[in-house]
Amino acid sequence: MSINIVEGTRNKEQGTSLVSKPELLAPAGNFEKLQAALIYGADAIYFGGKNFSLRAFGDNFTREEILKAVEFTHALGKKIYAAVNIFAHNADLDALADYLKFLDGANVDAVLISDLGVLSLAKETNLKIHISTQANVTNWRAVKFFHELGANRIVLARELTREEILEIKNNCAAELEIFVHGAMCISYSGRCWLSKFLTGRDANQGACTHSCRWKYNLVEEKRDGEFFPVGEDERGSYVMNSKDLCLLPYIDKVIQSGVASLKIEGRMKSVNYVAGVVKVYRAAIDSYFDNPNDFKIRDEWLAELNKVVHRPYTTGFFLSDDEPTEIYSTSKPSRATNFLGIVREFDSETMTATIEQRGKFEINQRVEFFQPCGKTFSQVITSMRDEDGQEIFSAPHAQQIVKISVVEPVEIWSLMREEF
Ligand code: SF4
Repeated sequence: MSINIVEGTRNKEQGTSLVSKPELLAPAGNFEKLQAALIYGADAIYFGGKNFSLRAFGDNFTREEILKAVEFTHALGKKIYAAVNIFAHNADLDALADYLKFLDGANVDAVLISDLGVLSLAKETNLKIHISTQANVTNWRAVKFFHELGANRIVLARELTREEILEIKNNCAAELEIFVHGAMCISYSGRCWLSKFLTGRDANQGACTHSCRWKYNLVEEKRDGEFFPVGEDERGSYVMNSKDLCLLPYIDKVIQSGVASLKIEGRMKSVNYVAGVVKVYRAAIDSYFDNPNDFKIRDEWLAELNKVVHRPYTTGFFLSDDEPTEIYSTSKPSRATNFLGIVREFDSETMTATIEQRGKFEINQRVEFFQPCGKTFSQVITSMRDEDGQEIFSAPHAQQIVKISVVEPVEIWSLMREEF
């Protein structure tokens, strides 16, 4: 991968070596989310094909879409990785070999793998290999072993403290990647049988139903239909419902650990989520490297992370403290800002933005424009016209094209949202 060495930025943990600017890696559940991730500042994206990635119910990419995605990503000088991280059965192997050959020919930059059989198939191609977090790599010997097997990068297990990450970094030459943001799994690095047991949908084949987030009661076997609450208090029993990871408040310490790539979780999440989270981490990483000695977390970054759908945030295992990582009161995520449309064109002479609708909006509504680079601004919608120039008062139709007057120049690919 290409990394920028920033002169004068010393690794405060080690005291001697320079810290490289880490890659910001974002999820791409479909082509539109891929565009959002890259335009809002990701250095690289990861996606799943229609088969063999651990998000069977995401939109995922067809072979034709993969070719388009590679072309778009490389045109921006960025990287694209394919998740091929299922635990394969014998019956999967022939199709997997064919798919890996296709990915090699398509020029994806690396494949993300959990299973040793899939790794052996990938080694028969020219693809770079990243070891998925599902492989549960928790120590430097495991990193070295995967590196010797041909892996270029290892995604460390989420269950590691900062000190453990530093020790691994100090003992290994392989690139390291860690999760910095997104939903967590209560089971060890996602290896779980709960969903398969309760619904037949296998988490290890990409079909998890998130059964850990359901509400559970106790039933005595002869008292059919009588549910006894289980819980530490009156709030309930969501004992397996994990908070979401957010390492933004400690991003300086994450950077100082010297890992090569910072990963955002969420191939099933919305365009609004991907754009918002990526822009915040992009700004934080760049701000650190602009002035590491005077780096501060900005309130506006934290505010934006609260606008996207999420559960209460946690630092997970990173700080090795005793903060609870489960939410006992509810399994519902927070309300997010309402995503209304994407700016497709802007006419600076008439100060008109062309919006592709995503949620219903109407005249006199207050909205905000969240821009890829510029500051967010808000305004009231004072005039709306349809594609043919006819005056309209609301935009209820999916993906309807609407022209509205804007009070400030607005960047293409800005998200129009309900003011939060
Ligand atoms: S059911 Fe929950 S713990 Fe199990 S794999 Fe799915 S998200 Fe993880």
